[in-house]
Amino acid sequence: MIRSYWLPNLLRKVSGYKMHGGPDPGLISDFVNTRDLARGTDVLAGPTQLHDWLAARGLLAPGARVTSVDVAEACRVREALRDVLAAKSGLDANAEAAAAEIDAAARRAGIEVRFDPTCPRVEPTARGVRGAVGRILVEVYDVMVDGSWDRMKACRADDCRWAFLDTSKNRSRCWCSMESCGNRAKVQAYRQRHVHR
Ligand SMILES: [Zn+2]
Repeated sequence: MIRSYWLPNLLRKVSGYKMHGGPDPGLISDFVNTRDLARGTDVLAGPTQLHDWLAARGLLAPGARVTSVDVAEACRVREALRDVLAAKSGLDANAEAAAAEIDAAARRAGIEVRFDPTCPRVEPTARGVRGAVGRILVEVYDVMVDGSWDRMKACRADDCRWAFLDTSKNRSRCWCSMESCGNRAKVQAYRQRHVHR
């Protein structure tokens, strides 16, 4: 009962959003940042947490079944996205392995092309968490196509790797924030200069 009510509403929400809002890099960075490397916390630590996070964003039907396999798969995709962002931000990460992981998740999500003349798009056909993760991957695809992917980065601090959108004019931002990682790097560079003297 819930599902039959929920699905058309979600589709309306998603397609309306697509038409008016465009791709949303924020959803991608929010997903990557559910794990905070610096603090050692993970918002998606178990099935209940993953369910609540996805349902709160309209990506999963409230009450949908979520297993520990779903959690493992979703977290692998999250870390693969972090690796892709880290690699393009100059950090040590295996971008090829990460891209293969993301491709595999896209296959699990059954992502298909819809040749709708008024609104051509790609969309997941899988249900449950695999489909929900697929919606995040569609966002990645859209962000790559529209060019805002160039502005998506991971914080250059190796122990942080926080995902963010660089909105600076010359696209030169390297840190999640100047107050934390930016200053830390400055202090480290200062110390290193003085050690080498
Ligand atoms: Zn940082």
